[in-house]
Amino acid sequence: MAPSAGDARSFGNEPVVIRLTLPALADAEAPYVARLTRRLDTTDAADALLVSQDDEGATFVGRDGTVAIDGANIDELDGDVVIVDPVAGRAERILRRSSAHNTLLVTERCDQLCIMCSQPPKKTHVDRFALLEEACLLAEPGSLIGVSGGEPTLYKEQLLGLLERVLGERPDLEFHVLTNGQFFEPDDVPRLRDRRYAGVSWGIPIYAPDPELHDRIVGKEGAFARLENTMADLMLAGARVELRTVLVSDNVGELPDLARYVVKRLRFVEAWSIMQLERIGFARNRWASLFVDHGRDFGPVGAALDVALLHGVRAQLFNFPRCTVPEPWRHLARASISDWKRRYAEACAPCAERDLCSGFFEWHPIEHAEAGVMPL
Ligand code: SF4
Repeated sequence: MAPSAGDARSFGNEPVVIRLTLPALADAEAPYVARLTRRLDTTDAADALLVSQDDEGATFVGRDGTVAIDGANIDELDGDVVIVDPVAGRAERILRRSSAHNTLLVTERCDQLCIMCSQPPKKTHVDRFALLEEACLLAEPGSLIGVSGGEPTLYKEQLLGLLERVLGERPDLEFHVLTNGQFFEPDDVPRLRDRRYAGVSWGIPIYAPDPELHDRIVGKEGAFARLENTMADLMLAGARVELRTVLVSDNVGELPDLARYVVKRLRFVEAWSIMQLERIGFARNRWASLFVDHGRDFGPVGAALDVALLHGVRAQLFNFPRCTVPEPWRHLARASISDWKRRYAEACAPCAERDLCSGFFEWHPIEHAEAGVMPL
């Protein structure tokens, strides 16, 4: 989940983190969805029109009344789709027009308890599927929208309903759903064969090739066996799957074996993403024991990539700054960190590959970032 707002912190002289939730004063009584605009000629009932702005923020009027939003101006907000919550006094920027990294948080509940979880689960759930669906229908043409949690498929019926209705009306959109794969059933296979699911890819974590270690990392007995069944169901459904493996000290030595498992059993996947750890959530306090500095020893990661690529599995690296990856594998490092939580080190300033580079998470240890980069 996105933190409600990023504070103005940076490694060097970098811009502030983008704020996803802003204070707002609205005269409606219940939460509603609106698209903020400065266009006066719009006829779309979902649009809320700019009526004034000053140094504090901007005020809009739409079918649900007036909303005054603080902390951003119309240049930042124009075209954003927001959920306005009058009682909480906030406007949540659900789909930022200028961003390729919009993600819907559909629940904060989860059935697993991963040792490195970046978003530790909560017991409570607030059902906002109807509002999120309304927001998706207002998305910019051709958008890719992320879905995450918690575990989205705890609410599988609501989730699949949202995907099907939105993609039925907006076949130009695509979704990428992060799920632990614990709740798919053989009965779902015919449903998932529907042509609308060509617009959905499922990002599914797998942490080790053996059940005991995977189960220990995700904190759930039997999770690996359940995941294997899900993979069989998704393969039968022709689903688009991206495997995800977060690098931690517990599994780094197993990566080459995991690669062999993937090429043998899961070769149908679209991609396998090996991801560097994010120092937030549970990983913040466990950083010293979990973090693997691939800049010091790339061996197991490189060996895993070689196995995958040799067998035609499209392996890639997420959250690996490019200059920290040895040259033979550098082209696999993607600019994966979302814009609202991405930073670069001061030492990155002269780098020619910055636009291709993930940079660092905002919460990555600054000393490590500054010491480890070598501008390309
Ligand atoms: S110097 Fe900075 S921008 Fe360049 S590759 Fe390294 S981390 Fe990325």
